[in-house]
Amino acid sequence: MTKQKGADEVFCRSCGEAIKEASELCPNCGVRNDNYRSAGGRRSGASAGAHDPAQYETTVADTWWYGVAAGTGVWVLLVLASALNGDLGAAGGLLVLVGWVGLPLSVFFDSKYVRANSEWDPQTVVWVILTALWFVNIVAGAAYLYRRHQVLGEP
Ligand SMILES: [Zn+2]
Repeated sequence: MTKQKGADEVFCRSCGEAIKEASELCPNCGVRNDNYRSAGGRRSGASAGAHDPAQYETTVADTWWYGVAAGTGVWVLLVLASALNGDLGAAGGLLVLVGWVGLPLSVFFDSKYVRANSEWDPQTVVWVILTALWFVNIVAGAAYLYRRHQVLGEP
């Protein structure tokens, strides 16, 4: 039997049933319709090529932003200390290590979480570089947390 489909229909990639292009799921087998996204893109040109978090899966925890916040705080402390010519001694060296490794690392993991759970698609490489740069990282860390708050409502 040859299956017939209408102009606004596509064949389900799973069961082969003719389904409405605009339907997100196949009513016959429940598998996601591959053409659904492109149909949405045509409805409003602005959303064409928009980031779709459903495309991404991640097992990254949602708690990495604590590291981003802590790392940014560490850098504020370090910059303040150097501005005041304060000597943090061994603690200062440890804080530099924590800040320099912890902040970009936290951003690296958290951006994966954000990408899979919000409309924002953070450029991981860019943010990791920004949060690894002296002084810039404070602004970058704050900006990252602010943007994250906008799209996720937390922290
Ligand atoms: Zn199907």
